[in-house]
Amino acid sequence: MNKINYQQATFLLSAAALHHLPLDTGAEVAFVGRSNAGKSSALNCITGIKGLARTSKTPGRTQLINLFQLDDQRRLVDLPGYGYAKVSLATKKKWQDLVNRYLTTRQCLKGLVLVMDIRHPLKPMDIQLLDWATDINLPVHILLTKADKLNKDPANRTLIKTKQALCDEAKLISVQLFSSQNNFGTEDAHKQLDEWFHEFSQ
Ligand code: GDP
Repeated sequence: MNKINYQQATFLLSAAALHHLPLDTGAEVAFVGRSNAGKSSALNCITGIKGLARTSKTPGRTQLINLFQLDDQRRLVDLPGYGYAKVSLATKKKWQDLVNRYLTTRQCLKGLVLVMDIRHPLKPMDIQLLDWATDINLPVHILLTKADKLNKDPANRTLIKTKQALCDEAKLISVQLFSSQNNFGTEDAHKQLDEWFHEFSQ
């Protein structure tokens, strides 16, 4: 299987609505997670480009879908984070609508990477997302990130517990430990992305 060079990623565009997205062709893998879970750091770590996902943090851009191009057929997608404590119900609803419509209508979406802080896994919105994804048979790969914040045993226990909680959907959902701080788990994440992007090109 061909390995993709994730360091080729370049910022493509930010979309405030689905009709701003590029043509629905090729293959996309989308990253999603609660705000502060470590999604931007994970994207930077996986691509090996330090400032890549900083674009998403530019004020005004946090509620947008940010796309990064790997080549003319493949894109990484940074979906807006959720779970800001102080957002209004209307903002929350807007986020849910945008993300739900992206997940359910985007034909070129091959998989979802769900980033969860290992110390706070499977919060209600994470579970909601997993439900949306499994309802439409979309595979999800979970990064239990900030694994460096726990010792090895508690980190492994959380990994096992999370897998057990999701075992009914084991065909669609995979889980791994990750740390952007010390680059832990990057190879496994690459393997999963390679697989999704490879399936598309077969
Ligand atoms: P986002 O809001 O999900 O994009 O989260 P960020 O990537 O901006 O990370 C939020 C905070 O967590 C920042 O202070 C990061 O430095 C920190 N962080 C992210 N990933 C890790 C990690 O793997 N280990 C540790 N120790 N800190 C992390």
